[in-house]
Amino acid sequence: MNSPVDTADVRRRNLSLVLRHVAAHGPCARTELAEATGLVHASITALTAELIANGLVHEVGLASSGSRGRPRRLLELAPGRVVALAIQVTAGRLVSAATDLDATVLWRDERAHGAAYGDPRPVARQIGQVVRDGLAAARGGGRERMHLARVVLAVPGAVIEDEIVADSILLGWRRVDLRALVRADPAASAFPLSVVNEANMAAFAEYRALMDRTGAAPRVFAYLRGSDSGIGGGLVADGAVQTGGHGMAGEFGHIPVSFDGPACKCGDHGCLVTYLGLGALLQSAGLDPAAYEADPGAGRDELDRRLRGGDPAAVRALETGARALATALTAVSRVADPEQVVLGGHLADWSDWLVPNVLRHLAGRRAVTPTDEPLISTDLLGADATVRGALRYGCETVLDDPAGVPLLTPAAAVPAP
Ligand SMILES: [Zn+2]
Repeated sequence: MNSPVDTADVRRRNLSLVLRHVAAHGPCARTELAEATGLVHASITALTAELIANGLVHEVGLASSGSRGRPRRLLELAPGRVVALAIQVTAGRLVSAATDLDATVLWRDERAHGAAYGDPRPVARQIGQVVRDGLAAARGGGRERMHLARVVLAVPGAVIEDEIVADSILLGWRRVDLRALVRADPAASAFPLSVVNEANMAAFAEYRALMDRTGAAPRVFAYLRGSDSGIGGGLVADGAVQTGGHGMAGEFGHIPVSFDGPACKCGDHGCLVTYLGLGALLQSAGLDPAAYEADPGAGRDELDRRLRGGDPAAVRALETGARALATALTAVSRVADPEQVVLGGHLADWSDWLVPNVLRHLAGRRAVTPTDEPLISTDLLGADATVRGALRYGCETVLDDPAGVPLLTPAAAVPAP
């Protein structure tokens, strides 16, 4: 026998199933929704009526269903009802954007946060202002009834339980509760905030982009990105970013490749980043990483020039890096078994040197099954991946639970055209 709680849960889950299908495949007919979700037509009629009444979905046009039968009305996401905001925190700036549920970009912004190394308070204050500006822009032009799904704060550091930033070498933060700092401002106290690792968001965006391109979703997907500050990444399984038990899943840069290897900033030795990080590659190619500390881009350009010119030391540096990457990927494969590995940042820029060497190392190590090697490809989105992933992550709040969007009051409802 179903209790009322069960019935409410089932309804919420079914609303989510229907809204997700419309988001992914709309415009679509109710018959298609019934087929895709396995729900009976009467349920689909009731669920879509609820989504339409709350302004999340609307009817568009008619599709002919052949020479016989009635034409069908199609459903798609309604614009202007839900907004998600993403704010990426970098060493000196806040990079922000707002989108609709269907990923239409409504607003973009980039500004300096003016915080000194190690001090998160100016960042938190600026975030409150950015959210207010973003909401004002998104809700302009007749979109006042827009519901804020979530503000996603993507930070360059490990995010542990309760969304605490455990450690960010780039920002000089240790155990920072960014959400509490932002909400200390009374004007920001009610914002629905999530604090997430920025590389995890980039992984999520790359996963979605790969799905959109190939039409197929890998069950397990790994993303590794080389940046000026290290090697980060993320693991996506069954469509969800995996953060692990302590928020540390997907920290590929600190997989030990050799216990007695070079000292790492994290306090350990022989992490992947000590072989494949930008500084490590520069050093191993005979360049002085200290000379490029203020401008890592110049170091990257110089190593790139040498690689493309066939400089033997530069090529050897990438071969050493590839061997370390192959070792780390072997460990990743044994634990998580990804079908697809995507490389970003300088790992993508130099994939012509890395990937053939990685595949050569992996080829002889088929211990478990003969076909457990992942496909390795380069990223599709580049530097925009973090903000795009964070926006999508923010929208997931509503796709997961459309019933969580407050009902439109009749006065706020926009009359049908
Ligand atoms: Zn390390």
